[in-house]
Amino acid sequence: MHYDFLIVGSGLFGAVFAHLVTKSGKKCLVIDKRNHTGGNIHCREMAGINVHEYGAHIFHTSDREVWDFVNGIVPFNRFTNSPIAKAPNGKLYNLPFNMNTFSRLWNIETPVQAEEVLKSQREEVLAKLDAEGVTEPRNLEEQALSLIGRDVYELLIKGYTEKQWGRKCNELPAFIIRRLPVRLTYDNNYFNDDFQGIPIGGYNRLTAGLLEGSDVITGADFFNDREHWESVADKIVFTGKIDEYFDYRFGKLEYRTVRFETEVIDTPNYQGNAVVNYTSAEVPYTRIIEHKHFESLSQQAVYNNPRTVISREYSTEWQEGMEPFYPVNDERNQALYAKYKELADATPGVIFGGRLAEYKYYDMAPLIRRVFDLFNTVILEKSSI
Ligand code: UDP
Repeated sequence: MHYDFLIVGSGLFGAVFAHLVTKSGKKCLVIDKRNHTGGNIHCREMAGINVHEYGAHIFHTSDREVWDFVNGIVPFNRFTNSPIAKAPNGKLYNLPFNMNTFSRLWNIETPVQAEEVLKSQREEVLAKLDAEGVTEPRNLEEQALSLIGRDVYELLIKGYTEKQWGRKCNELPAFIIRRLPVRLTYDNNYFNDDFQGIPIGGYNRLTAGLLEGSDVITGADFFNDREHWESVADKIVFTGKIDEYFDYRFGKLEYRTVRFETEVIDTPNYQGNAVVNYTSAEVPYTRIIEHKHFESLSQQAVYNNPRTVISREYSTEWQEGMEPFYPVNDERNQALYAKYKELADATPGVIFGGRLAEYKYYDMAPLIRRVFDLFNTVILEKSSI
């Protein structure tokens, strides 16, 4: 059988692409080197709970087309992410940074009071940057300090971020922290988006729905038999590591990865929340995820299962043999990626897409939007790739 597309990687990018292309009447073969599909959105069932095996995935978007699309595959629940942070002072604070956080931190009540404190802390930083002739924050530390001030930075950002990225805050790009909202309302919703949720029954249902109609082979590594795989289809969608595709010829890109310590515990409710971040540099893990809270949204559903599953997340530098999670978008890696991108652009017949092939810190929804756009240009407008 000869295919129109070989899709290397059955993660969200590959699966959505396969879905659209298959629906348009083309034949797709999807291969994945792991023994399951879905990439990092894959869930493993433990104690009757869908465990987010490669880290918590919470779908959130304001893009109605994307939201309708995923809900057309599998309905989503109304989960709202409202993480809690355990700070170095031993206290719990609400995230994202909002009136609940500020009132506990500064013993204040009103938005005006919070604004006063924030203003004075911001001004201190801005004056310092101004004196140095800096107009735009040059790194994550400057960005965080000018956004939220020293107290929040030191209690809730610095330790967490340096653990997560294994780099000092003043060596990290500013955009990472811009993901986090700052709010003068008592609203603990982590995301600003209109729509948010988890697929009912878990992410594997989403993947299965997306891959319906495509041929799928798991446990198949593109690089083990590259010539063969390149011959099975007219075009390739590559969602693996872009540096590996080009034999690391300019050197290796760096990634962060996460090691999970997952355990089943004989208690129905371990921490009362899906996500608790540990922002102290002294605690070796970044956060603890209690998976049942993604899907058991009522008190009764939580206690119906006498057991729970938790995962401690340890952020580490990626090494061969591990699953790469986050691209490290610092200057060195961005410059290296730019060189690979140039090669990719000059490679006809291959689309490079997703977190690893585009070396981009994608959330799920923008990634799906990207696939829609690509599909429209490449397939519907028949422009060359
Ligand atoms: N962050 C932080 N403290 C927290 C949570 C997040 O400083 O308690 C910062 C940190 O730099 C992190 C970034 O915000 O890299 C983005 O966090 P998010 O939770 O969005 O990352 P993800 O869930 O994708 O790992």
